[in-house]
Amino acid sequence: MNPIRMQSAIVLRSREVERRITGQPVSDGAGVKLLRVLTAELQRRLDPFLMLDEFRSDNPDDYLAGFPDHPHRGFETVTYMLAGRMRHRDSAGHEGLLTAGGVQWMTAGRGIVHSELPEQEDGLMHGFQLWVNLPARDKLTAPAYRDIPAEDIPIYPTASGATIKVIAGESEGVIGAVRRAATAPLYLDIELPAGVVHAAALPPGHNAFLYVYAGQVEVGARGEAVTARQLAVLTNAAGADGVLLRGAGGARLLLIAGQPLHEPIAQWGPFVMNQREEIEQALADYRAGRF
Ligand code: FE
Repeated sequence: MNPIRMQSAIVLRSREVERRITGQPVSDGAGVKLLRVLTAELQRRLDPFLMLDEFRSDNPDDYLAGFPDHPHRGFETVTYMLAGRMRHRDSAGHEGLLTAGGVQWMTAGRGIVHSELPEQEDGLMHGFQLWVNLPARDKLTAPAYRDIPAEDIPIYPTASGATIKVIAGESEGVIGAVRRAATAPLYLDIELPAGVVHAAALPPGHNAFLYVYAGQVEVGARGEAVTARQLAVLTNAAGADGVLLRGAGGARLLLIAGQPLHEPIAQWGPFVMNQREEIEQALADYRAGRF
């Protein structure tokens, strides 16, 4: 296969689609309607990623109640807003407003209690929340937040006509807004007009997936179609150095990859640790008000 060159990225051997998964409608928080895209049964395969939700509605009844006070321990949440505004407050007095195009990267670490509440009464609310695991040694680290407004997130056009927003990691020499040492996540939001090809480099050892949230994209040398609201797990074939993407009708997609932790995963709702005893400890700490 001929290499396809896009600026600096050359993908000689593309990953392919291993499996496609359609998001499942669920209700979470105080009745917020969501599409759960990455579910618990994919946690091992897509290590270090634990969950991906898409929320998209222009009906306030679907989102107004938001996510009142709830705890987290042992991982990171990454909230990316495309439309709408979300107010975040926590038990330690931190507060932030997430606006369209912005990202909040929250490290729950040893524990926080926070609320995530829409700050609008009508109009479109659209965004994503990704959960990224922490390595065992960092699970009880101090909680931390970064609210990153849209203007601080690099976005660039490729020579071929794609537009790439680099939320985390690096794309063609463009350094993203966030870098994390243990999981080295890549988080790109890619716009691919029809017929436009983009070759995205991916670190060979990373687990990778993409989620198409509008239009359709043809993936890999086989050109397998992935349509809106589908997640595609990408193969970890030896020697593959990236993924070929071809827009097939106003495609918008998230391309996400991370270095696996290869550690046991014990989850109970908003607590993600390595062992069951650590979950029991988290519950005890939460009930005792130690978060
Ligand atoms: Fe939360």
